[in-house]
Amino acid sequence: MRPLIGITCGLAEGEGRFFLGRDYARAVEKAGGVPVAVLPLPGETTGAVAAALDGLVFSGGGDIDPLLFGEEPLPVTGRVDPQRDHFELELARLALDRRMPVLGICRGMQVLNVAAGGTVCQDLTLKTEKPLKHCQQAPRWYPTHTVQVKKGSLAAAVLGEGKLRVNSFHHQVIGRTAPGFEVTGRAPDGVEEIIEARDKERFILGVQFHPENLIEQNTTFLGLFSLLIRHSFRQESYTFC
Ligand code: MN
Repeated sequence: MRPLIGITCGLAEGEGRFFLGRDYARAVEKAGGVPVAVLPLPGETTGAVAAALDGLVFSGGGDIDPLLFGEEPLPVTGRVDPQRDHFELELARLALDRRMPVLGICRGMQVLNVAAGGTVCQDLTLKTEKPLKHCQQAPRWYPTHTVQVKKGSLAAAVLGEGKLRVNSFHHQVIGRTAPGFEVTGRAPDGVEEIIEARDKERFILGVQFHPENLIEQNTTFLGLFSLLIRHSFRQESYTFC
């Protein structure tokens, strides 16, 4: 039985459509999971969605409403989507409570951090005086800056420790890291690029880059999805096999 991996979707403004990058689904499928699109519907369905899934990917997207992490919006804040924010934060809190395996990508990493009690820095120019270019204009599959991966971390077990080249499509960055999380990868300007649970029994990993777009060029990045899927096999299913 392949585990069911939910991938959160965005809402296209004014178009009446949901959207999800194809590469997320391809990565989950290639790593051995069944990708399922999770729609940000308002209402009472969040618990049922979490119960039906074995693991979750929180995908990339727009900015998180700063009021949701206790700050007033600064002019640098971009488009926010209240429906998606509320749905994903509720789903993330449920997933963390239920100890579901979760992988957060870009915005998804910020969602996990906020759900666990951390904050977002509204723009990287507020974080560091000399930021690198984190909103690349090169193709999505091309890695434009480096990340130092911490020795002995979960991320290092998959990606290797030391320097790693990644892609970058963000202007928001981690503000205060949530108490249960540890930063295990940083860009040379100090920006947090990888976070993971301090409790090594759990699979909670967030990356600021987009591994789903890098797999074709470098299969190392598929390892993040493989690890999620390995943690998503339900214990009870073994009993009946
Ligand atoms: Mn970056």
